[in-house]
Amino acid sequence: MLQTEGLKKSFLLHTQDGVRLDVLRGVNLEARAGECLALHGPSGSGKSSLMRCLYGNYRAESGRILVRHDGREVDIAAAAPREILAVRRTTMGYVSQFLRAVPRVPALDIVAAPLRSAGVAAADARARAGAMLERLNIPSRLWPLAPATFSGGEQQRVNVARGLLADFPILLLDEPTSALDARNREVVAAMIREKAEAGCAVVGIFHDAEVRDAVADRLFEMKAGKVGA
Ligand code: ADP
Ligand code: MG
Repeated sequence: MLQTEGLKKSFLLHTQDGVRLDVLRGVNLEARAGECLALHGPSGSGKSSLMRCLYGNYRAESGRILVRHDGREVDIAAAAPREILAVRRTTMGYVSQFLRAVPRVPALDIVAAPLRSAGVAAADARARAGAMLERLNIPSRLWPLAPATFSGGEQQRVNVARGLLADFPILLLDEPTSALDARNREVVAAMIREKAEAGCAVVGIFHDAEVRDAVADRLFEMKAGKVGA
């Protein structure tokens, strides 16, 4: 479903004497349908940067990012923005580490939004969003409220609900349980397993070893980057 070939990314720090951080130095990874691949490596090894490249948020410097979309292959590293948006609408979901809460938009609508843009009717989308929030132990009195004032764990569960609700064939998860208590970590881990078992290709970063052991079929080792001049 997802494959990178010789993916490279570095950051040029203009404000710090033009120091260059070579973060991704030729990454070759492959994620198949029905498996959960965990990116594994120390903090700063480029896991989140790799995720952002896969989702098209960071532009890869060289290499390819091949995604199976609509029965054909799209190279995210070379695709036009419009094409990347199409991939995001129906093929690839991404749960970032933190919820970017939009002011005044109720939690229920934030969760239902990806279904709405995939063409699901409003009532149906909201019903499914509610069921998801319920499973994640977000009380219904919070559903009509904007999540800006929610606790870190509540915001993360809204974010996870939103990311897991639609049936994307590829899912990218950046530390989806980092702010959760044990009970909710278990709920999210079970949901991730269900996704993989339903045929989704899941690529995730799981700092919690227990969650990682519970969900990952395979680890992808990340090596520390290099600093150049
Ligand atoms: P991880 O998720 O494995 O902890 P990151 O991908 O967040 O690692 O970061 C890898 C390295 O790249 C770090 O040294 C970080 O400071 C650097 N980095 C990440 N994003 C940027 C950016 N937008 N600009 C400059 N440096 C960045
Ligand atoms: Mg990270």
